[in-house]
Amino acid sequence: MICIAGLTGLITGYFLNVLIHRLPRGELAVKAGNRCRKCGHKLKTIDLIPVFSYIFLKGRCRYCAKKIPLTYPLVEVLTAASFVLVYIKWGITVNTLVGLIFTSLLIVSSFTDIQEGIIPDHLTYPGIIAGFILSFFTIGFKEASGGAFLLMSIYLAAALISGGGMGGGDIKLAGAIGTFTGPTGALMVFILSSIAGGTWALYLIASGRAGCKTPVKFGPFMSLAAWIVWMYGSEILKLYQHMWM
Ligand SMILES: [Zn+2]
Repeated sequence: MICIAGLTGLITGYFLNVLIHRLPRGELAVKAGNRCRKCGHKLKTIDLIPVFSYIFLKGRCRYCAKKIPLTYPLVEVLTAASFVLVYIKWGITVNTLVGLIFTSLLIVSSFTDIQEGIIPDHLTYPGIIAGFILSFFTIGFKEASGGAFLLMSIYLAAALISGGGMGGGDIKLAGAIGTFTGPTGALMVFILSSIAGGTWALYLIASGRAGCKTPVKFGPFMSLAAWIVWMYGSEILKLYQHMWM
């Protein structure tokens, strides 16, 4: 079963790459055939196998020899690894299904943010709707509403205080995440992502790669924190209570 989870992850990762490339450009329709992004040559099925094609082609297009972005195999491996972890944690339950959908949402928003600097509405709105629908099978509608409201409010306040350091996409993503985590989880996401994002910003400033005014892409940190909280939130909470009580 673990192999099936990994394989499902690799194949899903392939489709997430397509979404990561197309959603920021507003290309929703699936066009016939896949082409090299550099030379436009039509690619064969053998060139599209997750991870293996990248290794086999040594990271270069078969036709124009230009480099294939490393993010392609990275997204595939990351999706496969997280699918395996979700399955190990939740087994064959409705939580696993919800976890796989949530993981996919987080991976796509992280990489559109890293590559294009945006988290598209075509991703966050369906994410919010999916979160509310799925909440009926997990944490319940009330918790989902509370989580979405709380996390959106926090990031809206952060956006107002920072004067544009945080984008609208981040706030909508926060809403989607809140529907999956509920209010307690939302608070944990805020704390964890602030620690991770803050550490990264300090590192960039200390190494001279950014100034104090450079906006930090916050989507990946929020997504990573959300995934950790969704997976291990109750364990973290128990550990924290154990430490203080
Ligand atoms: Zn090419």
